[in-house]
Amino acid sequence: MVSFEEARHLVEQHAVGVCPGDVETVDLLAGLGRVLAESILADRDFPPFDRATRDGYAVRAADLAAVPARREVVGEVKAGDWPDPARCSVGRGQAVGIMTGAPLPRGADAVVMVEHTSLSAAGNFVEVRRSVSAGENFVPRGAEARAGQRLLDRGRRLDHAGIAIAASVGKSRVQVFRKPRVAVLSTGDEVVEIDATPGPAQIRNSNSYSLAAQVQNAGGEAVRLGIAPDERGRLRALIEEGLECDLLLLTGGVSMGKYDLVEQVLGELKAEFYFTGAEIQPGRPVVFGSSGDGAVGEGTRAGAPALHKKYFFGLPGNPVSTMVTFELFARPMIEALAGMTPRRLAFLRARLKTGIRTKTGLKRFLPAVLSGEFENAEVELARWQGSGDIAALAQANCYVVIPPERAQIETGEWVPLLMR
Ligand code: AMP
Ligand code: MG
Repeated sequence: MVSFEEARHLVEQHAVGVCPGDVETVDLLAGLGRVLAESILADRDFPPFDRATRDGYAVRAADLAAVPARREVVGEVKAGDWPDPARCSVGRGQAVGIMTGAPLPRGADAVVMVEHTSLSAAGNFVEVRRSVSAGENFVPRGAEARAGQRLLDRGRRLDHAGIAIAASVGKSRVQVFRKPRVAVLSTGDEVVEIDATPGPAQIRNSNSYSLAAQVQNAGGEAVRLGIAPDERGRLRALIEEGLECDLLLLTGGVSMGKYDLVEQVLGELKAEFYFTGAEIQPGRPVVFGSSGDGAVGEGTRAGAPALHKKYFFGLPGNPVSTMVTFELFARPMIEALAGMTPRRLAFLRARLKTGIRTKTGLKRFLPAVLSGEFENAEVELARWQGSGDIAALAQANCYVVIPPERAQIETGEWVPLLMR
């Protein structure tokens, strides 16, 4: 049994360098949520010219030390215009009308906002009521990035901001890593497929579906292997099939019960275990290990691709435990397999709405509801019946994180949160 932090660090250490490195090229929008296999560089200076950030008049700042001042309007630059220096430049005593997004004409070193000016009836003079400093109200060419500068690193998962960058440098197609294939195997004699009518002691297999959704969300492709009974032979065959994917996730069968066979069968397959149990709740029985170490070992199907180490997680079968342990441990491994640059797990904080009493000894991740508004977020535990209660979890939108040494947390205290 290891602490939560030790368990998390073990996964992070093993996740280094696991990405197989296969790449594909996709249309930019199809790249949303994918991980860049190439860095995205600025194809020119950003901005490519001194860009006005206000509507107003391009002026010489030094020329406006004393205001109000009357200036001759010698031209106008709209966004999209390229001011010809022969016909449109700002000399002493002059101003050029300019719009947001337009290039600053030669001679100007500031923009005075239109709000601080009045144009003469004939439109050939402007009265400026405010002085400006040089550099005001425009962004100099190259201030955001120089041509050739790296704007997005390889290993970055594309979100809308990343898409904006790729678009702005003209990448209509991007190179991304292949999604890792993640096998999902549920175990348990009581578990039946979701379109079956369950017998009186049976339950539908919700875990394979919640896990598949989480896998997809983490950047992987889920391969659902169905349900393994609590019987060695069939369980072993399905585990072997799962180990052909990039990662295997099992649920159920990792507790102390007589029919909890997952660890035993993995042991028969010469698996190496990095932890079997973590001091957390829910999810204490969680298992992390690997099988195969580069040598072709027992238990691989003939003709299977050259073996390298395959990692697996044995997640507890209780649906809430399954979901929590996925987020805490499986997600960073999937992200690494997907080529993502590792990131540390950091909790947010919010004020506790209602005090909590609990037992010490385990780090707890309790389903909770974050509510309130604007700067006044507050969080409260969801009422739940334990780790099987998916109805409560569905009402929750985060987990409150309770350190193992705390038995009592008061109303109003700032508590760490893991968003869901
Ligand atoms: P286990 O970890 O096998 O001891 O299972 C713990 C609890 O989770 C039991 O109540 C199981 O019935 C339930 N459970 C196990 N597998 C699943 C599954 N695939 N979907 C929903 N519930 C499950
Ligand atoms: Mg079971």
